[in-house]
Amino acid sequence: MTYRDTLVICKECGKNFFFTVEMQHRLADQGREVTVPDICDACKGRTQYGGKLHGIIKWFSPEKGFGFLAQDGGGEIFVHRTGVPLTEQGTLPPLEEGQEVLYEVLDTPKGPQAVQVRPFQP
Ligand SMILES: [Zn+2]
Repeated sequence: MTYRDTLVICKECGKNFFFTVEMQHRLADQGREVTVPDICDACKGRTQYGGKLHGIIKWFSPEKGFGFLAQDGGGEIFVHRTGVPLTEQGTLPPLEEGQEVLYEVLDTPKGPQAVQVRPFQP
């Protein structure tokens, strides 16, 4: 399949958005079917993930207490350990590279930060 940026009209909110080559490559890299989505990321989060955003851990260092996650729409966002709820055992959940997570975005004076970051099993 040849990848190219595709303009899509979201059937939920009616806005135009691009299904970018980068997003297509990411799906392929994850071994998923590369199909044109019919709703935008914002609507997908609202309908599929209960209002949360979906992303993938790029790296997270429990020692340093922070890391970054890759956002579905492209780009990456800072994760601080205070944005990661502890498990019932009082420990940080495993946030290995490639782990899928759901999160929310908090605007801080230092810039956007992912909070309520929880591991997600598709
Ligand atoms: Zn939409």
